[in-house]
Amino acid sequence: MNITMLANNPAVIVAGIFLAFILLELACSSFRQSSGSKRDVLIEVVGSGILVAVTFPLVMWLSGKISSQAVPEMKDALAGIPWIAGFVLFLLLDDMTQYWWHRLTHRVPALYALHRAHHSAPYMSVRIVYRNNSFYYLLMPGIWLSGVLIYLGLAPVYYGYLILKMTVIFAAHSSIAWDDKLYRIRALRPLVWVLERTFSTPSTPSTHSAHHGLTAEDGVTHYKGNFGNLLFFWDVLFGTAKITRRRPPAYGIEHVSPISWKEELFWPIVRSRRTAPKVNANRKVARSISQGRG
Ligand SMILES: [Zn+2]
Repeated sequence: MNITMLANNPAVIVAGIFLAFILLELACSSFRQSSGSKRDVLIEVVGSGILVAVTFPLVMWLSGKISSQAVPEMKDALAGIPWIAGFVLFLLLDDMTQYWWHRLTHRVPALYALHRAHHSAPYMSVRIVYRNNSFYYLLMPGIWLSGVLIYLGLAPVYYGYLILKMTVIFAAHSSIAWDDKLYRIRALRPLVWVLERTFSTPSTPSTHSAHHGLTAEDGVTHYKGNFGNLLFFWDVLFGTAKITRRRPPAYGIEHVSPISWKEELFWPIVRSRRTAPKVNANRKVARSISQGRG
């Protein structure tokens, strides 16, 4: 497989980096989660599999198809622009829109149902990166817009952008607290200070861990912020950043009882009867969802 083929199949790149991070956690014996259940494994394996094999390639393909129908004369129109200009376009149309999409799903209860699977894991691990309802990705504006940019001739830029972005995201979710060592090196302090305000890592697996914390009462958890994916800078810019070097003592969603793995991945197509439950239980769920929990 040569570079051109890889650029045309970004899902292959993503899958490769994903695998590398899984192997790293396996090597450090931190891949198996004692707090995890069979349900968690199913959500993660089926959810990640569908994204990489179906949703992501499908959205890329559809987006290219729609672009070629709508603006046939624009094919490769941006192919000649400087690499850095193309990179900035991906930051704005993919990473910034993903920040807003992520933030929106934490605000709107119906949309949170598409993202709650990501937060219902009681642990941090590269395993949870793609742990989301299928519609979370199907509706994610950044994937559609990336498809448009690729149609406009920016596939070579996307290749580099995606490697960087996925490395940062996998590292931010990793169960290996590799950033702890970084903080202790005195000479790196100024660099770490800048990095933790720009990228979602390094050194901010901690800041992203805070987004996944179980309860704000621990003084670290910040589930109403730290929404950034590649760039943490969006949180700094739009006022949702909480910079911390501590990790929450526990992860997951408070006050919400687990739903089936099928419902986590395929709601609203799959709905349990419990989704229209008794008033009391409902109130509890509504309260925790309106807190933008997760
Ligand atoms: Zn989230």
